[in-house]
Amino acid sequence: MSKQKILMIICVVVFLLGIAGSILVLLTPHGTQVNIVQDGIVLYTIDLTTAQDQTLEIEYKGRTNIVQIENGRIRMLEAECPDQTCVHMGWLDSGAMPIVCLPNHLSIEYAGSGDNIDAVIR
Ligand SMILES: [Zn+2]
Repeated sequence: MSKQKILMIICVVVFLLGIAGSILVLLTPHGTQVNIVQDGIVLYTIDLTTAQDQTLEIEYKGRTNIVQIENGRIRMLEAECPDQTCVHMGWLDSGAMPIVCLPNHLSIEYAGSGDNIDAVIR
């Protein structure tokens, strides 16, 4: 085998590793990091893989939403909103629609789905 061929193989391997790496980077933010956003402002960024079981109370103009984190999942446990749509949406599924409480301007969504949100975290 000539030196050139070995160099070419190394180049191909490095190239493939680079692609694999960027795919991993693209996939990683999806599924673990969750943002709780109110009026476009990120209130909490939670990594579901490391988060403790807990509930968070978030107030909006005297109305309270209670967000529950349990076993690496997140949902709207209770909400003082007229429609209760957010509560009925249940647990947030990876890659699925964010949980949105329109009356209270609150949403729970996976991080990395928008450039603006990324900019806020970093
Ligand atoms: Zn709601």
